[in-house]
Amino acid sequence: MDCIFCKIANGEIDSNKVYENENIIAFKDLNPVAPVHILFIPKRHVCSLNDINSENISVVSEIFSSILKVVKDLGIEGNGYRIINNCGKDGGQTVNHLHFHLIAGKKLGWPGI
Ligand code: 5GP
Ligand code: ZN
Repeated sequence: MDCIFCKIANGEIDSNKVYENENIIAFKDLNPVAPVHILFIPKRHVCSLNDINSENISVVSEIFSSILKVVKDLGIEGNGYRIINNCGKDGGQTVNHLHFHLIAGKKLGWPGI
């Protein structure tokens, strides 16, 4: 499958890796919108949050525990951060491989609509 995040997960395409375990990889976003902008993805291809089911839901909790590890490593838990999942056309999803954005390092605006 021609999926750019699958290629990052299997090392075919280079990325600025921040964290990795058996099922998850986290890497810096190519076009950061804040001083900290990291993407967390499952290594196994899942198109979007719509495709989470009882078989693969554990990857979502693994992603969130990975996020928390990175947050603590970066020391940003005190100042805070934002987790975003864009899903589908209206949600602004541009890469069809499930990913969560970790954004931090500045005071973020709200709401982003
Ligand atoms: P989305 O809009 O789908 O929620 O987010 C996709 C994100 O992936 C964007 O923020 C974009 O900058 C990032 N991105 C797209 N292609 C690449 C790439 O090849 N490498 C990295 N590191 N980030 C990418
Ligand atoms: Zn993929």
